[in-house]
Amino acid sequence: MTLAPSPLTDLEELSSAEVLEHAAERFGQRMYVACSFQKESSVLMHQLLEIDPQARFFTLDTGLFFPETYETWAALEHRFGIEIDVYQGPSVARQAALHGDELWKRNPDACCGLRKVSPLEEALADVDAWVSGLRRDQSPGRSRAPKIDWDDRRGVWKVNPLADWDDRDVWRYIHRHDLPYNGLHDRGYGSIGCTHCTKPGEGREGRWANSGRSECGLH
Ligand code: SF4
Repeated sequence: MTLAPSPLTDLEELSSAEVLEHAAERFGQRMYVACSFQKESSVLMHQLLEIDPQARFFTLDTGLFFPETYETWAALEHRFGIEIDVYQGPSVARQAALHGDELWKRNPDACCGLRKVSPLEEALADVDAWVSGLRRDQSPGRSRAPKIDWDDRRGVWKVNPLADWDDRDVWRYIHRHDLPYNGLHDRGYGSIGCTHCTKPGEGREGRWANSGRSECGLH
């Protein structure tokens, strides 16, 4: 499929694969795909590598992933024969020395800032676009997310190819292609982040449950 160099704001009618194709043509190696190792990561990785086998992926390893998340990371690298780049904040021990214990409990904004937001900024320092698995049905705050948008904070394009997918779309794709996925989803975790701040629950209700917090500052 040939895609005209249309304005990046005009991709809403395209499928996820078409959005990725357009973005890969436009940005090439200067596009970076964020992997959280939730089920959307499995889909994006498969779709994009079919289009561009040289596509680049990264993760923000907080050091506090579940064992199942590290297993999913390894399984995806093995399945696709790729290596996912890693960006990290300070080690858990270093963070405790600098900021005291349980920063995640006392000040989750600061903790996410150190472990996620700053490493993301480092990852995006020398690219033109990043790709996320964000979906509109995940939370009210995400309900208007476009398929591609200018990330003003970071000065790069942000691509959300799965913006109009729902859970059933994701699972259908994973099973059709027999993709590795995070086993915590089968144990009631709709969304998966750090061990300290994630509980089982539908959608994103298990993230920072009962705290009024819904995002970590990446989106
Ligand atoms: S999700 Fe929790 S533990 Fe992870 S970086 Fe944010 S506050 Fe810290």
